[in-house]
Amino acid sequence: MRKQEVSALIIGRFQPFHNGHLEVIRNIANRCDRLIVGIGSAQLSHTFDNPFTAGERHLMISRALHDDGMEDFFLVPMVDINRYAIWVAHVQSLVPPFQDVYTNNPLTRRLFEEAGYNVCSAPLFNREIYSGTEIRRRIVNKKEWEHLVPKGVSETIYEVHGDQRLQDITKNHSYEVTI
Ligand code: ATP
Ligand code: MG
Repeated sequence: MRKQEVSALIIGRFQPFHNGHLEVIRNIANRCDRLIVGIGSAQLSHTFDNPFTAGERHLMISRALHDDGMEDFFLVPMVDINRYAIWVAHVQSLVPPFQDVYTNNPLTRRLFEEAGYNVCSAPLFNREIYSGTEIRRRIVNKKEWEHLVPKGVSETIYEVHGDQRLQDITKNHSYEVTI
């Protein structure tokens, strides 16, 4: 029989996956046997808030984690169902069994705690710059952003012309950099 393994779940939109996400995942990976990363709002793409498809996010995260030496992880796209009461059941139906959930979102914490999971909070790293919104603003405004994400992420974004996509779809809006 296999020994009891501890699996931990973290869910994010990862638009895009950045160095703050990588740092928090490194910490979680040290505390579990298997990491499950839920790619949230998987149905969304081509907007300022959610520019990248689930497939593109899958590729950028798997490259970043492999480059960082991680192997035992599951990346699972999750579409929104917009019904909080059955959100946990939806997640359970998509991923391997897990025991621990890492989140900073109070509603997510409540839903998983009500379902009996062990919910932990994860510290934020350098949040002013390691933020999806900040990175998207920089891409739109043609400011430096590549140093805020793992190499596999910037490579993926350039491969799919994601920088041009973001600039095009926001042409008539103002997303001024605020730092
Ligand atoms: P956006 O600005 O688009 O909301 P984000 O940077 O908040 O992007 P998300 O995909 O919304 O990224 O976050 C996924 C998870 O990663 C959340 O639990 C969030 O708390 C965590 N997270 C986000 N930024 C950091 C960071 N700098 N350090 C550690 N964890 C982070
Ligand atoms: Mg966020």
